[in-house]
Amino acid sequence: MSPFTRLPPPHAYTTPQGALLVTPIGHASLLLQLDGQTIYNDPYSEVADFTDFPKADLVLLTHEHYDHLDRPALDRIRTPATTVVGPVAVAQELDGVTILQNGESVGWRRITITATPAYNIRQRRPDGELFHPKGRGNGYILDVDGFRLYIAGDTELIPEMAAIAPPDIAFIPKNLPYTMSDEMFIEAARQLKPRMLYPYHYFEVDRPALQRALTGITVK
Ligand code: ZN
Ligand code: ZN
Repeated sequence: MSPFTRLPPPHAYTTPQGALLVTPIGHASLLLQLDGQTIYNDPYSEVADFTDFPKADLVLLTHEHYDHLDRPALDRIRTPATTVVGPVAVAQELDGVTILQNGESVGWRRITITATPAYNIRQRRPDGELFHPKGRGNGYILDVDGFRLYIAGDTELIPEMAAIAPPDIAFIPKNLPYTMSDEMFIEAARQLKPRMLYPYHYFEVDRPALQRALTGITVK
């Protein structure tokens, strides 16, 4: 897979703060354009050449793994005016990060950003360590005057998801061994009940099969 240089067409939504354009770039990289503001999640240069993409007003980084904290991609879109939000594990490797730990919230312009837990309960490295230990990485909830986006991060289905009110849009990871199996993904989606569901961070995806398993949720 070679990185693409032009963005695919976005999906358009309406929020209380104006039009929201959602562009899944690939892997965990997302572009969100809200009323002229440009927000990226985990820009990753393996999936796209960010050179000609819009510069970032806000970058959300979920954790420090190379496919999430990727300097070549960041260098293409970050300006002195860009706000970068991430957990301590990201701030240890990158300057100028606004630190947000699990459970903490911060206001950015008119959006409230909340960091949510994102971790493994089953999936371990060969040495026995969890791929994503609890407390190290983030997911994010963006609250746009009640229109809510949930970016789950590298996580399995964890108990904390039960406390998340159904979001308008959810991005849920689906790949083994790092995140969720198809079965766990479906279980997480049924529990979260988003209006719109974007599988992301996948190696392969069978959207029709997921859609058949999930009534009342639109799989994008
Ligand atoms: Zn990871
Ligand atoms: Zn990852």
